[in-house]
Amino acid sequence: MGADPGWGLSTLSVHGAGTGDEGPSPSTPTVQPIYQTSAYTFPDLGSLDAVQDGTAEGYIYGRYGLPNHTALERAVAALEGGEGALACASGMGASAAALLAALSGGGKVAAARDVYGGTYGLLQELGRFGVKTTWIDAGRMAEVEAALAEGCRLLLVETISNPLVKVADLPALAAAAHRAGAFLLVDNTFATPCLCRPLSLGADAVYHSATKYLGGHSDLTAGVLVGPAPFIQDARRVAMRFGPTLGPHDAWLAVRGMKTLSLRMARTCGNALALATFLAKHPKVAAVHYPGLASHPDHPLAKRVLTGGFGGVLAFELRGGLEAADALVKSLRLITLVPSLGGVATTLSHPVKTSHRGLSPAERERLGVRDGLLRLSVGIEDAPDLTTDLTQALTQI
Ligand code: PLP
Repeated sequence: MGADPGWGLSTLSVHGAGTGDEGPSPSTPTVQPIYQTSAYTFPDLGSLDAVQDGTAEGYIYGRYGLPNHTALERAVAALEGGEGALACASGMGASAAALLAALSGGGKVAAARDVYGGTYGLLQELGRFGVKTTWIDAGRMAEVEAALAEGCRLLLVETISNPLVKVADLPALAAAAHRAGAFLLVDNTFATPCLCRPLSLGADAVYHSATKYLGGHSDLTAGVLVGPAPFIQDARRVAMRFGPTLGPHDAWLAVRGMKTLSLRMARTCGNALALATFLAKHPKVAAVHYPGLASHPDHPLAKRVLTGGFGGVLAFELRGGLEAADALVKSLRLITLVPSLGGVATTLSHPVKTSHRGLSPAERERLGVRDGLLRLSVGIEDAPDLTTDLTQALTQI
């Protein structure tokens, strides 16, 4: 629609730009544009009806989905090998949509005790609505089987746990869940589909905090759930009711970030192995946790489950406890303290002060999360620069 020269200034301000229908062009944009719109315009009631009834394809309203959501959903579904996907405003939005779609009041969940703190909190919150969670060690099949025998119908684990980077035996967990008629939901944030595709190992659905590796540049917050079409349809209905809607710009950024995912993950895994090997030999380091090291208890399992590499996260424990951890953080020049992970820059976090601060000292000790423990999210820099930074900082503690 072109501007009418007779319109007043106020009308021109609103309508002068048109709606983006720029007329015929033989060419199309090389990348998808950002659909920064909250709603769609319809030519008549019939076409509005058809899209609402689902008899015609189309978009209606931002919370119901936009083309940038569809692009992100297609990309993650293709990488994970799933039928459908749902993009959400955060990883928590994706896990909440999954849990609310899968559970009803009185539902029973078996979840790994060391899941991300936000997921732990979400399941505690769902307790107010009658959902009961049994906390299990996903590495102990007897505990898993016992929870399933008690009637848990949803098993929730992370492919790689935080911060001790334990690896879940997804084929065994899927088999146990299915024998009991339960649903296996996997948080694949730390692994990414480059390292592991849980659906191909028997999981029923998988989700990501795309804020981390999928986006990869520490500049967006998003989440994606992938699974069978009917499950995604239920999760989409839940998301439309609860409203964890992803902004189109963040969806676009996530799609752009994912184009380099496999390159970033290959470099990240190589760098992480180099740093883990370096730290394991350092006299001021008491322990290194990285599934790529033969010393990690899950190393043989990791070789089976993480077929694309051992990941970019490692944890190490300093001999000097909290004081040493603080001194190291202050002395590092390149590596910064950031309570997140999965970006192109190498960052450090202190689990006792961040993800595990809500736990009692006894509970943290039980999990092996001590004051001197630091978690590295290894980026794509040159590995020698990272070891140089760690070397100079370690000499100062
Ligand atoms: N899952 C894992 C493993 C995480 O580490 C996080 C966040 O740190 C989440 C889920 C939640 O993601 P978001 O912060 O995007 O909501």
